[in-house]
Amino acid sequence: PVPQVAIIGRPNVGKSSLFNWLARRRLAIVDDYSGVTRDRMTTLIESNERFFELIDTGGMGVVDDDDLTDDVVRQIEHAINSADVIVFVVDVQTGLMPLDEEVVERLRGVERPVILVANKADQTHQDIGAEEFHKLGRGHMICVSTTQNRNRDELLELIVDRL
Ligand code: GDP
Ligand code: MG
Repeated sequence: PVPQVAIIGRPNVGKSSLFNWLARRRLAIVDDYSGVTRDRMTTLIESNERFFELIDTGGMGVVDDDDLTDDVVRQIEHAINSADVIVFVVDVQTGLMPLDEEVVERLRGVERPVILVANKADQTHQDIGAEEFHKLGRGHMICVSTTQNRNRDELLELIVDRL
């Protein structure tokens, strides 16, 4: 079976953007306001002759600022339980948010490898701001920008190393 790599994180951090960027195709819907990933999106990715199935997660409906919706929680739970590697996305432009802590809560006790992806680091100076995410205490961190195409190969290498 092909190893599974799931992308999780609170709404709007850029999970679907990351999914499309790694797939080099616009498969998942990217949305400015809400996590509109309606279905579980999956795609096969190849890197250095290694294959894995990448899974995007999201949620329906309006984003609640204080809570993850039940649907999002279900998708995160499912992703966490089925994935061999977890890609946990946060946003350097908003910084650490209470909802990121909620996602971490869901990762408690999970021993599968986690890669902490600090997205929206469009310029290298923004990498400094990502330091605060070490507080989350989960996974090897890498700063990326899907829009500026920063560190795609580096992220793929981190993923493949953990398959
Ligand atoms: P999701 O809800 O986590 O799936 O997030 P989306 O992929 O739908 O993206 C949410 C918003 O963040 C969209 O407006 C994207 O264009 C924007 N976004 C995604 N990646 C980046 C990035 O690297 N830099 C910047 N500046 N914006 C980004
Ligand atoms: Mg999405």
